[in-house]
Amino acid sequence: MTYPAHLQIAIDGPAAAGKTTVARATAERLGILYLDTGAMYRALACMALRTGTDADNGAALARLMQSSPIEVELDDSAQLGFRIKAGGDEFDEATLLSNEVTAIVSTIAAHAEVRAEMVNAQRRIAERGPVVMAGRDIGTVVLPEAPVKIYLTASVAARIERRRLQLQQAGVDVDAHRLAEEIDERDRLDQTRAISPLEPAPDAHMIDSSDINAQGVVDEICAIVGRL
Ligand code: C5P
Repeated sequence: MTYPAHLQIAIDGPAAAGKTTVARATAERLGILYLDTGAMYRALACMALRTGTDADNGAALARLMQSSPIEVELDDSAQLGFRIKAGGDEFDEATLLSNEVTAIVSTIAAHAEVRAEMVNAQRRIAERGPVVMAGRDIGTVVLPEAPVKIYLTASVAARIERRRLQLQQAGVDVDAHRLAEEIDERDRLDQTRAISPLEPAPDAHMIDSSDINAQGVVDEICAIVGRL
């Protein structure tokens, strides 16, 4: 399939809508780079827990990022589809998805200082080549010129089931009731924060994946790419 040399595909949407699966599979199908930016916020949350940094203190979190920068290596053979490290440690999927990290990540992601550092780092990564990037603010803030923007949603029931499976596969304890509350609370925090709240870009293609599997969504995205 041919596509523009500067192809950037931004995939945003609420928690557990299937963004990472779809983004990774789209990147694989097109043979381009893939990054899940949620992993970067989760890596910072891990570092905050390890160093005892207060999740409410944006300035301290920004200092933590400056002293131990988050390094991302785009490597599709890695478990996550990329490697993510900071302070000499590589973060694995189970650590990033752990309940402790999930509980504080949206508080951490709401700070202006944190977002400024993350957005800069993500834009530098996008300079490495055509990329599929998944997150909450990719089409609106990180890559506003991306020629393809997707806002991926799914019913609450579908999202709970997907997150349950993902956590089970990663070996993280799951409590279905807690999962519903956690997804709901993170969406609320992400949608109501003052800086870069989660919302569709005006030019985003809205895709509801409740009744289509990941390959079906990838087909839709590739059809959009094919029309560029
Ligand atoms: O995508 P994931 O659920 O791993 O993201 C974890 C959290 O990181 C989100 O709930 C959100 O608070 C934050 N995030 C963000 N902007 C992004 C990606 C993730 O604020 N681009």
